[in-house]
Amino acid sequence: MSNNVLVFVDCNEGKPTRAGLQALGAGHRLAKQLGGKAFALVAGKGVEADAAGLGNFGADAVQVAAGETFGAYSQDGYARLVAQQAQAVGAAAVLASATPAGRDFMPRAAAIAKCGVASDCTDLKVEGGKARAVRPVFAGKALATVEGTGALYATLRPNVFAQAQTANAVTPEPVKVPFGVGDLKAVVKEIVAGVKGKLDVAEAEVVVSGGRGLKDPAGEGKANWENLEKLAGTLGAAVGASRAVVDAGWRAHGEQVGQTGKTVSPKLYVAAGISGAIQHLAGMTGSKVIVAINKDDQAPIFKVADYGIVGNVEDVVPALTAAFSEILKG
Ligand SMILES: Cc1cc2nc3c(=O)[nH]c(=O)nc-3n(C[C@H](O)[C@H](O)[C@H](O)COP(=O)(O)OP(=O)(O)OC[C@H]3O[C@@H](n4cnc5c(N)ncnc54)[C@H](O)[C@@H]3O)c2cc1C
Repeated sequence: MSNNVLVFVDCNEGKPTRAGLQALGAGHRLAKQLGGKAFALVAGKGVEADAAGLGNFGADAVQVAAGETFGAYSQDGYARLVAQQAQAVGAAAVLASATPAGRDFMPRAAAIAKCGVASDCTDLKVEGGKARAVRPVFAGKALATVEGTGALYATLRPNVFAQAQTANAVTPEPVKVPFGVGDLKAVVKEIVAGVKGKLDVAEAEVVVSGGRGLKDPAGEGKANWENLEKLAGTLGAAVGASRAVVDAGWRAHGEQVGQTGKTVSPKLYVAAGISGAIQHLAGMTGSKVIVAINKDDQAPIFKVADYGIVGNVEDVVPALTAAFSEILKG
């Protein structure tokens, strides 16, 4: 094992995602501390075009897995690829974003390498010459610092790590794998996209979430949810939801924030009509600034809020939209 770091850079339609570049930034800094190199690995259809550009985001070397085998996502194929390349570069740490794909293939890659995996990490450091990862546990109540017995396999929470700015001239190298599509245990045949252009709460820089206080969108809450969407549109935010709302079938599960939903760490999190149950807090207390709107001044959400507005969502949400529209106009 050397001091190198392998970073799987998540791509969407061939382009590196923001979460992928953040993971690369984290890998770049870790490799520097270890005294090794940061290897970026990209896979999928059309990833060649932007591969050389990863030298501007912290990569010392770039590896490209294109071709039929990686044309469609396969947890088996990606896991084998990552484990193979980790061994090839003698990686001391292997990183990927904690996106749905990263969460899916990284434990499998780690198992192939007979290593453990630290998931949803919020910090990386080097102690005693070894890479260590910090991850929230017990719904964010404590932080665990972990190291691997072999290489440190870790998925990184989006929006926590900064991107790097470098000017490394790199020549992407194609990766050869000893397996083809026919060898894979499962292959994704089709991906049906959700609403086109909709921001994912886990990656958005601003999240505006609604709770049961907004009431049923098919009934008396219709205007409240339309107002929330307008506020989100004004702020360029993703819309999130509490579990009560998702369980009621008012919003899609992909929007749920919390222990059994997504963990978010945006620059701004607005919680409207959400009480602040511990399971909801587990998913959003990593936000930089939290604004809570609730008509109950004793609601637990106010304990974690930087700004609390005691009032009715029917009045406060449209007033915020009007105020932000005015400010952002200039
Ligand atoms: C194992 C487990 C996992 C869970 N995972 C999650 C999870 O991932 N995410 C999650 O969110 N929850 C989760 N929960 C559920 C959680 O415990 C709460 O039940 C849920 O978060 C409550 O959602 P809420 O805040 O929208 O609703 P409520 O608790 O009903 O709160 C509604 C709030 O709206 C306010 N309100 C009402 N009307 C208005 C108005 N007109 N204007 C302003 N404010 C108003 C009320 O004062 C109240 O504070 C989980 C629970 C369990 C047991």
